[in-house]
Amino acid sequence: MKKFDLIIIGAGRASNLAAKAGKMGKKVAIIEKSKLGGTCPNRGCVPSKLLIGYAHVARAIKESNRHFIDSSINNIDVEKIFEETNKYISKIDPIYKKKFNENIEVFYGTGKFISNNIISVNNEQLTAPKIVIATGTKAVEAPHPKAWTSDDIFPLKGNIPKSITIVGSGFIACELANFFAAVGIETKLLVRSQRILGNEDSDISAIFKEEFVKNVDILFDTSIDTINYENENFDLTLINKDTTKTKHSSEALLYATGRESNTSSLDLQNTDIEVNDRGYINRDEFFETKAKGVYVVGDASGENMLQHAAAQEVNHLGKILLEDEKEALKFKYMPHGVFTEPEIASVGITEQKAKEQGIDYVTSITPWIASAKAMSTRLRYPRTKFIVNPNTYEILGCHLIGPESTTMMHQVLTVMHLDNDIRHLKEMLYIHPALSEALLPAAVEAVREVENLRI
Ligand SMILES: Cc1cc2nc3c(=O)[nH]c(=O)nc-3n(C[C@H](O)[C@H](O)[C@H](O)COP(=O)(O)OP(=O)(O)OC[C@H]3O[C@@H](n4cnc5c(N)ncnc54)[C@H](O)[C@@H]3O)c2cc1C
Repeated sequence: MKKFDLIIIGAGRASNLAAKAGKMGKKVAIIEKSKLGGTCPNRGCVPSKLLIGYAHVARAIKESNRHFIDSSINNIDVEKIFEETNKYISKIDPIYKKKFNENIEVFYGTGKFISNNIISVNNEQLTAPKIVIATGTKAVEAPHPKAWTSDDIFPLKGNIPKSITIVGSGFIACELANFFAAVGIETKLLVRSQRILGNEDSDISAIFKEEFVKNVDILFDTSIDTINYENENFDLTLINKDTTKTKHSSEALLYATGRESNTSSLDLQNTDIEVNDRGYINRDEFFETKAKGVYVVGDASGENMLQHAAAQEVNHLGKILLEDEKEALKFKYMPHGVFTEPEIASVGITEQKAKEQGIDYVTSITPWIASAKAMSTRLRYPRTKFIVNPNTYEILGCHLIGPESTTMMHQVLTVMHLDNDIRHLKEMLYIHPALSEALLPAAVEAVREVENLRI
């Protein structure tokens, strides 16, 4: 049996923990069944956002007549786009490997628990006083062997299709549909209900829907009844909510219907580790599972499912394990972005959730027209929505829809991080007429709503 100071299963964000422990002289085993770096750089955040860059330029050209510019696209080399994206992905594993010093041994294989502190991989047995599970999630499997999930896009499995059907209504489905439609691939998005991006604040998802249907062909209340694959083509029977059936065909079929726990590969039945009803691993506030010395971080806990959350958790676990940190990590807020056109950024509670939870709140929803930079986009839909605690001026939620929302949100995040009081956004000085200036009338309006309540 090989002995280590630390064993890590899953080399996504937890690769950073391995590198840090190795630098501190600890003997580390890191086990990875696929590529070092995990989902984010290999088949998640990064490659999907690289594609958005191409979509953005294509759309700007297509929509240039909004600015009275008559232009057209001669050709989009989608082959080249995927070639470039694949080139980026192929460099990830070696880049991560370079971060590891001689104290770190990499095992390419599936790690499984034999007991609370013994792991088997490739017919070897490893043990350590501290074991970290960072196994992330996997795409929910597609119901047809020839259909793709987002994992099959990065790198692209097969040829560039001329047409694609995408199933799903979450951010991955929307980002990919946005890309394929923008670069000229005939795209149809199938959404089971009337709502798209259903976890967003309902005012924001309603604006999103109104705008997104202008870019992407969407069938609402629709799912797939039967799939027939012949001559490299999918012949689909679609079924509507009212049971009407229609035919549709496309060269590719992509399911983006969610992510699920990866823990089934771990043989947790051989341990004291407990999982919840969704198959995600339970842990205490210091990330420790029911098995002493075994920790879980990142998506494997099923809590936040975002790269920035996983990275912070891994960083904090490093402090707990290697620097004797005694404080638990508590996220004060958890922002996220949807990198589509329109772009969305969101933090904190939605109005629906505030209502459900019986929280006291006021809201404001303000257009961006006060900023000349926003006006120059000639878009009318961009909005800021604030949800504020009327007793304390605390920002409970902020939801932006419009160009560069994810960048603009950081100003709100800074206030929330330091001293969460919306009056700072009302009183601070803005560069005129920057896009961020759109936050000023939004904050003024929200503060007015609070003060109206107090009169
Ligand atoms: C298409 C897509 C787009 C995304 N876009 C964004 C975004 O814009 N912003 C954002 O914040 N997040 C985004 N995410 C989510 C983000 O990628 C994850 O939250 C993040 O990667 C989680 O990191 P992790 O280290 O917990 O897990 P992962 O990065 O998934 O790493 C887990 C690793 O464990 C390995 N593994 C699993 N089981 C075993 C085993 N038994 N033995 C050995 N190895 C194992 C896996 O192969 C994997 O490499 C996106 C995800 C996808 C799929």
